[in-house]
This record gives sequence, C-alpha cells and structure tokens, in this order.
Amino acid sequence: MKRIAIIGAGVSGLTVAQRLKDLYQVTVFEKEAKPGGLIRCERINGSLFHICGGHVFNSKWQEVLEWFWDKFDKDKEFQLTNRNSVIFLPNGQAIPYPIENFAYLLDENTQKSFIRDLIGIGNNKKCDTKQSSFQAFLQQQFGQTLYRLYFEPYNKKVWHRELSEIPIDWLEGKLPMPSVEEIIYNNFNRIAEKQFVHSTFYYEREGGSQLIADRLSEGLDIHYSQEIKQIRYCCKQWQVGSECYDAIVFCGNVKDLPKIIKNIDISAFDDPIKELQYHGTTSVFCEIDKNPYSWIYLPDENYEAHRIICTGNFSQSNNQSKRLTATVEFTDDISETDIKRDLNRMPLHPEYITHKFNRFTYPIQHPNTREMISMLKEKLASAGFFITGRFADWEYYNMDVAMQAAMQTVNKINFNINQS
Ligand SMILES: Cc1cc2nc3c(=O)[nH]c(=O)nc-3n(C[C@H](O)[C@H](O)[C@H](O)COP(=O)(O)OP(=O)(O)OC[C@H]3O[C@@H](n4cnc5c(N)ncnc54)[C@H](O)[C@@H]3O)c2cc1C
Repeated sequence: MKRIAIIGAGVSGLTVAQRLKDLYQVTVFEKEAKPGGLIRCERINGSLFHICGGHVFNSKWQEVLEWFWDKFDKDKEFQLTNRNSVIFLPNGQAIPYPIENFAYLLDENTQKSFIRDLIGIGNNKKCDTKQSSFQAFLQQQFGQTLYRLYFEPYNKKVWHRELSEIPIDWLEGKLPMPSVEEIIYNNFNRIAEKQFVHSTFYYEREGGSQLIADRLSEGLDIHYSQEIKQIRYCCKQWQVGSECYDAIVFCGNVKDLPKIIKNIDISAFDDPIKELQYHGTTSVFCEIDKNPYSWIYLPDENYEAHRIICTGNFSQSNNQSKRLTATVEFTDDISETDIKRDLNRMPLHPEYITHKFNRFTYPIQHPNTREMISMLKEKLASAGFFITGRFADWEYYNMDVAMQAAMQTVNKINFNINQS
C-alpha cells in the first residue's frame, strides 16, 4: 500500500486524510497538541473560547455538505441559526448588517447624501471595479457616504493599511455585490441580505468548532506535537524523519516551504514567497452584556478592536459564567494593557478573561499571488508533493472552501498516483 504523509491537522489536512485513508497508508503530522489549527477551542473556567474567531459552518457546495453531514447528526449535534449582525456606529446607533440595506435607519442628512451617491453610481455604471483597489471598489460600489461612515474606518482597523493599497482579487466570491436597484429595493422593502454563505449557519450544540476537528480526526494516525522541519526528496520518495513516503500533502504555511523542502530546487520561489503579506489576529475572550447579536462590527476609531463575535449566543453551553461570553478581535499583536484600555472604551462592557495571538490568520493576495502559487504547486506535484490549505494556497478560505480545495487536491493525488 502506498504511503502518504500529511503535514497539518487543520480542516484541510483532516479532510485530505479522511478522503485518502481507505486507499493509502496515511500518517498526519501536527505541531500542536490537538487537531483543528485555526478552529481549535479551549475551555476557560468551563466556558468555550474559540482561540481564533468564532467559527460557524455552512456551505453552498453540495459535495462539501454531503460529505460533512455524513459525519455528524445534524439535528442532534448542531443548531441552525439566522445571522443577526449589527454595526455599532460611533453615535451609539446599531444598524443591522449589511449597512447598505438599512440606510433608511440613518439620520436624514446621511440618507440624503447616500441617495445622491446612489444616483451618481447609477449614472456611472461603466466603471470597471475589477482593475482597481479595495478602496476604489468600496467607493464605486457603495458611495462616499457609507464609505466614510463605515467601510473605511472599519476596514482600516481590519487591514491595518491604506485601502488603496489592497488589491481586490481576494474579494472574488467573498462578498455580494448588490446593484443600485437592489440596494434601493432592499431599503424600500426592509430586506435583509440572504446571499452571504453565513446568513444562516450551523453551530455545535456542545464544544464549538473543536467538535468538527475532533470528529474529523477519528480513525486517523496523527502524530501530535511534531513540527516537521525537513522533508527530503530521495529516489522518488519523500523522507520525513526516518520514514519514507510516496507522496506528501502539505497543509501548513507556504512561507515555511523553502526551508523545509530539501533536494528539490524551489529557490526561484524564495523571494515571491518571502514577499507574501498577511495579518494576525488577537482574539480576546471576554464576558459582555446580554444582547441578541451574533457578530458586532465596530467602525468606531476610539478603540482598535474591529469585531465582537458573540459566541455565547451561538450555544448556551458555551457560557458557564453569569454573563455572556464573546470574542473581541483585534488585528495583529496587541498587549494585554492595550487590550484592557480598549475594552474600557467599548460598548457592552467587555470584561477581559484571556487572549491569544494567532500570527497567521488573513492571507493578503496580490495580483500575481495565484499564478505564483499555482506554478509552485505544479512543480512540486510532479514529484508527488501536494499543497492545500488557507496558508498553503495563500487563499482566503472559509472552512467549507478549505474542505472543497482539499477534495480537489485528493482527486489530483489519486490521478497522479494511478498514472505513476
Ligand atoms: C478570525 C477568523 C474567523 C474565521 N471564521 C470562520 C467561520 O466562521 N467559518 C468558516 O467556515 N471559516 C472561518 N474562518 C476560516 C477557517 O479558519 C479556515 O478556512 C480553516 O480553519 C483553514 O484550515 P487549514 O487546515 O487550511 O489551516 P489551519 O487551520 O491554519 O491548519 C494548519 C495546520 O497545520 C499545522 N502545521 C503547520 N505547519 C506545520 C508543520 N511544519 N508541521 C506540523 N504541523 C504544521 C498547524 O499547527 C495547523 O494545525 C475564519 C478564519 C479566521 C482567521
């Protein structure tokens, strides 16, 4: 039986391993002590802390849904919830998300200004947003009024850079792009956005997204607390430690590849890989005031946090405290002192419990990123080394899209192995 080593027991590595385990002898290596990568959760004083974000699940991909639900009892283990997200404006007003559908709730002058923007956008339909920056996209799509009120301050906190410097390739398929007619229609008829993949979502009744990681780990040979620092190509096989494998599936971070791979020359990719940009996230576990929301977006420039994920509302079992638990998100690394200062300035009286900084959370794509990664993949695949995952592909994947990409990688592996 052919042997395959998978590096990383996040959603991507676990999906690949589950799909391959009946066909090959599969071994998974994971540097952390438990599975899940970004979707890991911990219990703190009994309450559930998503160490990164507040992961919820849904998908528009039938193949992913069928595969995923085959592993769970959908009704017993998950609950289906409607997204109830708001934007807390600096003036204290809570506007439902997405803001463009609820412009009728804004004050009179802002509404008039937004209407003028919409007329301008409607008259200027020929603008080709594809070639421009994130800033130009937002301004052309939603107008200056909403840009200044929400999109600019919120996204500057998220991206920590000028929006004019951010290319828009990563946006493809991520956000609905309503036409002026749709925005007006939605405001006339009080229609909330239903196109988002997470406008309704599934959440675990117990254990948060760790349940997904734990279930996807079942039946696999996973070596935990083993960071793979070297993979050597030798006689058409790959050596990991003292063992040889017929193929490797790398689901870690592409930035590590130049130093990990030995005996295959990928030096042409060193510089472009080094130049890849990204963000980290500081997730702060808090208790907050009771509220009905799932996500709260925070454009207010008086503090750095950009989002509160009310994970305590996703499942009652997440709260073992008197108050509601939630994750407050900051972009990049931020000290405990600064976190506490900001929490004091924020709505809903967040009270600090603990925090975790994850260095790699948001890949930033540039116009040549996809081409570069695809050339690297092609070169390595010919030697039986495959790449898939959020930071392996440098793609802004949600869990379900990471699963879908992993499934496509599995098809390539089967094809290559059957050819050889
Ligand atoms: C803040 C935030 C919120 C999100 N919310 C959602 C959401 O609500 N719903 C949703 O569907 N998606 C969400 N996502 C996206 C989701 O987290 C990812 O799509 C998914 O977790 C990616 O899984 P992955 O396996 O590709 O990568 P990772 O989770 O990064 O897994 C990589 C794994 O490889 C291991 N590893 C790396 N290098 C090595 C090595 N050399 N040796 C051994 N092991 C190694 C790591 O320890 C890790 O376990 C969110 C992402 C973020 C950042």
